[in-house]
Amino acid sequence: MSGYEMIEVETGKTSMTDITSKVRDCIRRSGVRDGICVIFSMHTTAGITINENADPDVQRDMLYGLDKAFPIRDEYRHAEGNSHAHLRTSCVGPSTTVIVSDGEPVLGTWQGIYLCEFDGPRRRKVLVKTLSG
Ligand code: ZN
Repeated sequence: MSGYEMIEVETGKTSMTDITSKVRDCIRRSGVRDGICVIFSMHTTAGITINENADPDVQRDMLYGLDKAFPIRDEYRHAEGNSHAHLRTSCVGPSTTVIVSDGEPVLGTWQGIYLCEFDGPRRRKVLVKTLSG
């Protein structure tokens, strides 16, 4: 099996968008029953993470914490003025991998897959590749 799917996501200024159901759909369409699924953000100021999907305050607190850890600073040299977003993105990372079993992503009860936006609002592209094995 070859190829991959692209998920497009409309984001906020800084936001976490739950893309779990879209990833689930990609896995189903792949026809893979057992294997792994790679979820990859094609951007330098938006990352991918897995975290709690029950209490929305967790997402708010994560964005707040990353804002405090990597604030906007005058000292940065990058002409775009969004070095804080580049730093937050590398902290979160560009991708994640989930195990696929019986055609479904194996996630903990409270886990969801999120696209993390740090320099929006924008239309973001996320690649999803499911491999059998
Ligand atoms: Zn930049």
